[in-house]
Amino acid sequence: QWIYLDGEFVTKENAKVSVYDHGFLYGDGIFEGIRIYGGNIFKCKEHLERLYDSAKSIMLNIPLPIEEMQDVLLETIRKNELQDGYIRLIVSRGPGNLGLDPLRCPKASVIIIVEQLAIYSEEAYRNGLRTVSVAERRNIPDALNPKIKSLNYLNNILVKIKANLADVGEAIMLNAQGYVTEGSGDNIFLVKKGVVYTPPCYLGALEGITRGAIMELCQKLGLTLKEEPFSLHDIYVADEVFFTGTAAEVIAVREVDGRIIGSGQAGPVTLSLLENFRKIVTEDGVK
Ligand code: PLP
Repeated sequence: QWIYLDGEFVTKENAKVSVYDHGFLYGDGIFEGIRIYGGNIFKCKEHLERLYDSAKSIMLNIPLPIEEMQDVLLETIRKNELQDGYIRLIVSRGPGNLGLDPLRCPKASVIIIVEQLAIYSEEAYRNGLRTVSVAERRNIPDALNPKIKSLNYLNNILVKIKANLADVGEAIMLNAQGYVTEGSGDNIFLVKKGVVYTPPCYLGALEGITRGAIMELCQKLGLTLKEEPFSLHDIYVADEVFFTGTAAEVIAVREVDGRIIGSGQAGPVTLSLLENFRKIVTEDGVK
């Protein structure tokens, strides 16, 4: 396995960063998780645009132009001879001193890891996940806007710990007003009476690329989609609930806080979106 590290390819064992890297010291950096399907980088442009937007927002200078970053991604995939897998692209503020000041970090570090990916079983896609809602609040747009895919995932990790303690696959975050925002690493949708709903990102969610692809698919399939705030009550009484994300794709939720959702299995809209999503993943991307 070859890892891209600041312009060089190194083995996994030799892929090391400095303890003075502000990504490590402060979570000062950004990242993307991207899928490769049949050698195709799915929604490459969208992921790179989100990365460069995150960088601009936090005044992080990525040392490669966006076009070159795409070539480096393709080269890393080729070098690893991977047809299907996951790309983790990280840009950290780079090594500096112990102070917070990013001006002390002369050069950002770029790291690309590509790996095989196995997340949920086919059984999980058919039967859906059990989930709980948690007290941790998703920060609504403030200094650290959730649109920035930053290396600060501690809040999401606390949520994942809650999910682990409840022995469920994912957890649901609300914002300070009590509106549903997203999961610890996925966006959320519900289906009620044939209409598909997802919360607007301004409530406090990452603008997920899979979310965007599913919204487009809804339109293509003639499903009515509404971007509207909703509460846990709406989730409990929904016909279907599902998460979307680069790793999870489209995964049904069969239980929330002990309430069984719909039939207690993946519903027809969720399964149709998953099937159609898996058809488009090799079409919309870069080879
Ligand atoms: N929400 C959060 C907090 C995430 O970390 C992710 C994963 O990247 C998502 C949602 C889903 O976004 P995407 O579909 O772009 O992977």
